[in-house]
Amino acid sequence: MLLLIPGPVQTRPDVRAAMAVDIAPWDRDFAPEYIAIREKVRDLAGGKAGLHACLPLQGAGHFITEAAIRTFVPAATGKLLIVRNGAYADRMARLAEEAGRTVVNLPAPDTGSVDPAAVAAVLAADPTITHLGVVYSETGSGLVNDVPALGEVVRAAGRRMIVDAVSAFGALPFDISAQPEVDAVVFTSNKCIEGLPGIAFAVAPIERVVACTGNAGSWCFDLADVYHTAQRAGWGSFRFTPPVQALHAFGVALDIFLAEGGQPARLARYRENCRILYEGAQALGLRPYLEWEHQGPIIALFHQPQHPGFTLQGFVDALKRRGVLISNFFNTEAPTMRIGCIGHVGPDEMRFALGAMRGALEELGVLQRAA
Ligand SMILES: *Cc1c(COP(=O)(O)O)cnc(C)c1O
Repeated sequence: MLLLIPGPVQTRPDVRAAMAVDIAPWDRDFAPEYIAIREKVRDLAGGKAGLHACLPLQGAGHFITEAAIRTFVPAATGKLLIVRNGAYADRMARLAEEAGRTVVNLPAPDTGSVDPAAVAAVLAADPTITHLGVVYSETGSGLVNDVPALGEVVRAAGRRMIVDAVSAFGALPFDISAQPEVDAVVFTSNKCIEGLPGIAFAVAPIERVVACTGNAGSWCFDLADVYHTAQRAGWGSFRFTPPVQALHAFGVALDIFLAEGGQPARLARYRENCRILYEGAQALGLRPYLEWEHQGPIIALFHQPQHPGFTLQGFVDALKRRGVLISNFFNTEAPTMRIGCIGHVGPDEMRFALGAMRGALEELGVLQRAA
């Protein structure tokens, strides 16, 4: 089966095979492996030894986003401005509110990146806003927010920033050393690095982690505690049982990622995947949700055909019979279908998927069968 979903992604057989081992997380042989993963992840985010820390957390992307909010946005004095231009931004707002944080919303359409000037205006009007929360690649619609440009605005206003880079990290460029206003960039094992799900990561400036000690109001979701544990027990130590096989497989995926040319190579592959899909779907009569100039490389959405034979689940089932799996839900107001461009897939897989899409649309009667 070809998985074209924006996580968990299609993985390589050698990455999956790395799961098939028993490992004791605290074993002396595994600690150096875990330490090396943390250092590679820190470096990949543009972090520097002694200045930035890689702070892993068991679980999904929502967990690490909540942990970053709890750790860096103080409950009493913090105020988080969230750019609300998509489904994952909505989720960030819910995580913050349920953690008792004060949230200010900046609503924006989910069809293009937010204008940094709009963010600057809100920050100028409300000096009590301490943080900007933004989704780098909005997996709800496929748009990309300009994190470097937003960071400039945040830096100029003397505020801090939390970046949900869950579907961006490893594909879109990010450099925490060039963005000192960032408190945390967060991501998971199972998206653009092409590992298995199970573990999430934050990269953060150590100075800020230390300054924010005691904010979290949660032991599990306290990134400062992750840091202090590493200080006390070593960077190869864990607080709680980790998904150690997923971590081991992530290390394999990370080495493959680096050997393939790292972020620029991954971005180039995903962009090409996306271009083939975007053009090929239009040739099938499907209308893209985003204009090409706003289309990010991670996921593309298309409007559902207005045809009596079309239902999303019917289309998903017909595609699945042809060996391709896409999401059977959408997060836009308009009915759309979402197709991922990430994972261990290339141009051949995208063309195969387009053939399957043609077959599925013919089966549903949306397209005439070729004579
Ligand atoms: C996938 C994703 C998440 C996290 O999803 P989980 O299911 O919690 O792993 C968060 N933000 C974005 C932008 C994502 O694409």
